[in-house]
Amino acid sequence: MGGDRIKRRALLILRKDNKFDNKSIEELKELAEVLYNPIKTVVQIRKPDPKYQIGSGLVEKLAEKIKEEDIEIVIVGNILTPSQKYNLAKKFKVEVIDKIELVLRIFYKHARTKEAQLQVRLAELQYELPRAREKVRLAKMGEQPGFGGYGDYEVEKYYQKVKREIATIKRKLEKVREHRRIARKSREKFDSVGLIGYTNAGKTSLLNALTGESKESKNQVFTTLTTTTRAIKGIKRKILVTDTVGFIDDLPPFMIEAFLSTIEESADSDLILIVVDASDDIEEIKRKLKVNHEILSKINCKSPIITVFNKVDKITEEKKKRILEELDRYIVNPIFVSAKYNINIDLLIEKIIDNLNLSIGTIETNNPKLISYLYENTEIIEDILDEDKHIITFRAKEKDVNRILKLHKIIA
Ligand code: GDP
Ligand code: MG
Repeated sequence: MGGDRIKRRALLILRKDNKFDNKSIEELKELAEVLYNPIKTVVQIRKPDPKYQIGSGLVEKLAEKIKEEDIEIVIVGNILTPSQKYNLAKKFKVEVIDKIELVLRIFYKHARTKEAQLQVRLAELQYELPRAREKVRLAKMGEQPGFGGYGDYEVEKYYQKVKREIATIKRKLEKVREHRRIARKSREKFDSVGLIGYTNAGKTSLLNALTGESKESKNQVFTTLTTTTRAIKGIKRKILVTDTVGFIDDLPPFMIEAFLSTIEESADSDLILIVVDASDDIEEIKRKLKVNHEILSKINCKSPIITVFNKVDKITEEKKKRILEELDRYIVNPIFVSAKYNINIDLLIEKIIDNLNLSIGTIETNNPKLISYLYENTEIIEDILDEDKHIITFRAKEKDVNRILKLHKIIA
């Protein structure tokens, strides 16, 4: 992307307990690429080492590599204790971060709203709190730069400072949330459709296909965390489509809040599209669908849902059948599409209209106020001028159409 500064050269390390440990170096790499330039990846299978997390033999070898390859940052795909982090940094002589810190940095960079920023900061502090004591203990031993010469009193003071900031942020969050409730009211005349789903399912591609945009979607986790008002093809009515950050597995509980706030806006829509990669294994699809529904219920989402199985170009008829049969319990309103090859996108648009509960009404009027109201708040399908009368056919939410027709009868 233009304007990005050169990304720092990164070494990625992942420790797995055994062959069946499902931590994935591919996922780590995909995450790391958002902010850094991964030069090399290393996976080690062994039990965790208390001093370094990975084995000390490997640490020595990697220290060499880091020098040779001009590595600037090391990212460990496990969760490090402060002392492991410190010990690794001392050996490697470059910055060392763990998966949590990586995800926090990505969230932070992509937090567009004040609320999301606060949530991310809160997650950061909650991660920091139990570590604050150990951090300062290391500092007291003169071993953590930036914290030199602190005594017991300072240890407590630092700990209290983190706690106070947590309280302040929670108060600010309350205020911001109130603000959002008010903002939502003002955009109610739009219909809104929210896209949610795992990273790489094809949410951004689908947004582009629905709106007829041809912006290339990179294979990137966090290309979008923005809300855009875009018209869906073939519907004149403005539909607010929200794309979101993808789900990530293994988020520790304290980060879920930060994550939820980034998707809450999407889920707060008239209609939800759960986007699924249909080329995943059946078991994988099942697991992801479950998580999708769990998250929606956690944020108390009651909107209608369409389950969009994307990448239909990559699967057989047989697989389609299996998905529908075996995952029946987890599927609401299914449709198979390809965002990339434009398969069934028109059908999906029809489905969206059906599920938005849009309806059509016709009114004969010469009341300029009513005419301008219709033009501003509904989709005008036809406007026939007959003598001095307009015969207007319009589309709007079912309840609005009924309301307008009723009101018109009363006035007329
Ligand atoms: P997001 O992370 O959910 O926003 O997913 P993206 O829209 O970024 O897509 C992830 C990857 O899947 C990209 O490499 C896309 O080109 C690819 N992709 C998206 N839709 C399709 C599709 O219908 N068929 C195939 N074969 N690939 C697709
Ligand atoms: Mg995307």
